Amino acid sequence: MPDRNPRYDILFDPIQIGPKTTKNRFYQVPHCNGMGHRYPRAMAEMRGVKAEGGWAVVCTEECSIHPSSDLSPATLMRLWSDADLPVHELMVEKVHAHNSLAGIQLVHNGFEVANYVTRLPSLAPGNIPTENFPHVHARAMTKADIKDFRQWHIDAAKRARRAGYDIIYTYAAHGTMTLLYQFLLSRYNTRTDEYGGSLENRVRLLREVLQDLKDAVGDTCAIALRFAVDELLGDDGMNQSEAQDIVGMLAELPDLWDVNVAAWHNDSMPSRFGSEAGQQDYISFVKTLTTKPVVGVGRFTSPDTMVSQIKNDVIDLIGAARPSIADPFLPNKIDEGREDEIRECIGCNMCTSGDYLAYPMRCTQNPTMGEEWRRGWHPVTIEKAGSSASVLIVGAGPAGLEAAVALSDRGYQVTLSEARKHLGGRVITETSLQSLGEWRRVADHRTWLLSQRANVQTFTESTLTADEIINADYAHIAIATGSHWRTDFIGLQHRQPVPIADNSTILAVDAVLNGQRPSDHSASVLIYDDDHYYLASALAEQLASEGRDVTLVTPAADIAEWTHNTLEHEHIQIRLRQLGVKIICNKHISHVDAGHVTLACVYIDTPMQVEADVVIPVTSRRADDSLFNELQNQKPAWADTKIKSVTNIGDSMAPATIAMAVYAGHEYARNLDLPAEKARFFRRELELGGE
Ligand code: ADP
Ligand code: SF4
Repeated sequence: MPDRNPRYDILFDPIQIGPKTTKNRFYQVPHCNGMGHRYPRAMAEMRGVKAEGGWAVVCTEECSIHPSSDLSPATLMRLWSDADLPVHELMVEKVHAHNSLAGIQLVHNGFEVANYVTRLPSLAPGNIPTENFPHVHARAMTKADIKDFRQWHIDAAKRARRAGYDIIYTYAAHGTMTLLYQFLLSRYNTRTDEYGGSLENRVRLLREVLQDLKDAVGDTCAIALRFAVDELLGDDGMNQSEAQDIVGMLAELPDLWDVNVAAWHNDSMPSRFGSEAGQQDYISFVKTLTTKPVVGVGRFTSPDTMVSQIKNDVIDLIGAARPSIADPFLPNKIDEGREDEIRECIGCNMCTSGDYLAYPMRCTQNPTMGEEWRRGWHPVTIEKAGSSASVLIVGAGPAGLEAAVALSDRGYQVTLSEARKHLGGRVITETSLQSLGEWRRVADHRTWLLSQRANVQTFTESTLTADEIINADYAHIAIATGSHWRTDFIGLQHRQPVPIADNSTILAVDAVLNGQRPSDHSASVLIYDDDHYYLASALAEQLASEGRDVTLVTPAADIAEWTHNTLEHEHIQIRLRQLGVKIICNKHISHVDAGHVTLACVYIDTPMQVEADVVIPVTSRRADDSLFNELQNQKPAWADTKIKSVTNIGDSMAPATIAMAVYAGHEYARNLDLPAEKARFFRRELELGGE
């Protein structure tokens, strides 16, 4: 094993945080995961794996301190009573097992929550409509409420210490998400008592809570403050000047400053709209105002960037949520001189959808994420090969590539055959769209790993037929031949093809992704989105930035609807408007003619014509399963050969996200040759704790 590059030694310095000392500077900041209290074993195992991978501090997601902050249906953490302790004790035990510190982020969400389950009134500095249940208002907190609120923090902190946590946070960040931030913001805090008005007054509650926590548990636990230094709203929100005053006022009170920008979509900036270390200019002032250590995030995956952040006095600890999800072993890889093997986060934010949709988080790059306990999948170790030796994988998209990597890890002899010139399938074609450039890491990481493996043979520009496959000498065949976008408009809205006049021009998505463009640069292009994820907007963005006249039409009420779950939506709206893309919602296509399309309202039949020289339907895909089907049809011909199985995986089985294709490839590799009971679906999660 190579040695650590001395250039990165600084990343492994211990850091003093109040009464605690870290083993290095790698710090997994609090992040949601869709598991929380509902899937506690899965959550705890996932956190433990991060500690094993070298993260010196591993934090929970936000943890509600009281039933008046009920985040249901989201599945985050709670510390409302002693009944919640077993979940926390389990997590702490997993983190401590690897000599890492465990942190907990206490929160009250004020008017952000509507308390769907507990049905308590929401609390806020004043009567404010709740975020998630319009029409329902929060109650303006009385002095007695404020006293209770402080006590809930103290009670939760004492419980957190009993659970074994080393670092206890209070949380005033992510925009309007927390009550303490709501008190800081003059647009919400219109109180006329000593908790409202001047900045000193608006900071009072945060100062009191910090002091309460110090007094209650500060002798043995470090007290951290997570604070958003800028909402990027100018004078309408928290900005640099106010944030500097706040940091100046509280400078030495917390043992650790965890700083970022708000709201969440700016903090967890998708790679389409921001790159590594994107928060540097906003947060760098903090270290000039405090002697306490500072942690910050910036989707750090490059050890050189991390070192420069420390040397340039921006931060002391390398904060990470997404990079630790994509590669829980990132710190160990740097420590062992294997930084080339880091599986870099692509900034797609598939992981954040777990929080929005309340399911266990999944990651495009890391197929084991969320499956550490449920399926016993470890991100580094994998069961050795079974009885058979050789596997042929046809198609090197994300499914085929991941299957090849994981099978080679297991020790199989792997042959990967790809029809095109490059490995990567849809990842290569989609990343021809400039804004999706970082997603190429899905293919690059795996292509590089395969190039290092002696037990993998890769063939490009090699289109295999069923006969060739049958006559080859492999025990197992995986078909990962992908999918193609339809051009007949069949999708969610249209279950039958849309009438298309002969002299009209339809441009297939795959053609655009392969570089084809309308020959006439001034041609009007209409993109019809019945897919509702990222691709239609990325195509619109690309073509508009090339100077083309673009209209985006969708039958949905909003463009790129599903990207609300990936924090891309607001950025997409802004970018497309800046580029002059015309947006038409609530309309479907009823007819395509030369030079125009006829649209109809999805609710009532009010046809309208829109100019469109070229139409690009982004509706649904067809699985490229003909090779698989042919092999099935020829089963009698290969029944007597060495072939034990032919399996269809990824998009050629059922078109889906890149994350699902990677997962399918991994699942295939994990389960090959395993007895059925071992290749089980998943372990059931039963709740821990009492009533
Ligand atoms: P997935 O997301 O399931 O991995 P992709 O569409 O990204 O699917 O990738 C499928 C890959 O399979 C493409 O790169 C395609 O060129 C390749 N492919 C399709 N048919 C064959 C074949 N008969 N032989 C080899 N490669 C193939
Ligand atoms: Fe990064 Fe995407 Fe994985 Fe989230 S899902 S950690 S953004 S690669």
